[in-house]
Amino acid sequence: MKLSTIQKVPNTATRRRLIHQYVHEKKVASVRDQILTCDNCILRKEVKAPVPWSGPTPAPLVFVGEGPGAEEDRFGIPFVGRAGQLFDHLLTQAQLNRDEVVVLNVVCCRPPENRDPLPAEIAACKPNLEAQLSLAGAWVGVTLGAYALAAITGRTRSEVKITAERGRPISIDGRIWIPTFHPAYALRNTSASKQILDDIRSADNLQKGEESLPSDEYMHAVVDTDSTLIDQLGDRGWALIRSSRIMDLMVVMKDAQVSVPQQLLDNYVVYTMEELMRLGEIGQGASFTTDDYQRIHLVKREFGAMVVS
Ligand code: URA
Repeated sequence: MKLSTIQKVPNTATRRRLIHQYVHEKKVASVRDQILTCDNCILRKEVKAPVPWSGPTPAPLVFVGEGPGAEEDRFGIPFVGRAGQLFDHLLTQAQLNRDEVVVLNVVCCRPPENRDPLPAEIAACKPNLEAQLSLAGAWVGVTLGAYALAAITGRTRSEVKITAERGRPISIDGRIWIPTFHPAYALRNTSASKQILDDIRSADNLQKGEESLPSDEYMHAVVDTDSTLIDQLGDRGWALIRSSRIMDLMVVMKDAQVSVPQQLLDNYVVYTMEELMRLGEIGQGASFTTDDYQRIHLVKREFGAMVVS
């Protein structure tokens, strides 16, 4: 179907919002189900239940921890034990509320005796991590501790030097991460609390646009696959994008037959034009507003002139 042939039916902001909300709610339910029924590794056998994310999705900020402990396993909620209480306290000091941010873990099941998660367990839980990050939306995140930083940056625990890396933003797949210490470490080393607080504040200021990113020389790991993805669409697709800032990427294809790269499917809400019409019962089609075109310009600015319009 050609975009140019799609007209007539009003495409109001409300209609778009409702479509998004509908798709998002379906996605929330399916990710929760994916996590709760997961038995990708042996950890599941030992726990009461896996612990999915807490907080609203999408949210302005996402925090990633290591894995549930005894209290988290008991309540099914991340960061509710002693480390969680310190974390909550630091959030409050940063004038953030636990209810307004997303909190999740690298592994959803508690490792026995609170041991560190094994590489195979982290790998087994990666689809859950990615699905939760996709829901979280936030374009700024904070990794809590070395395991979270390793998982997010695709490294092993031993390749991460948390003391050297904390507080230094990293850009990965269109999201900025601020690495910081794990709150459990701060329970033993009280001076780390102040550093965690500084990093949380810095992430929040960044998210609110009150702090800009450091220059490239400070961005010590830049893995920006977004541009690659847009590139892959090439002249086969017409992309209408809600940028990572607005939390979603919506791609409307000129030709619904083209194959969408898996990574796009994993990370964003992607609609073919056919799906879009079906979901919204739009019937004859949709037209696009100035607002939509402004988004495209925004994305062009963010990712370079990769978007084919
Ligand atoms: N530590 C974590 O990393 N995650 C939790 O949920 C609790 C403690």
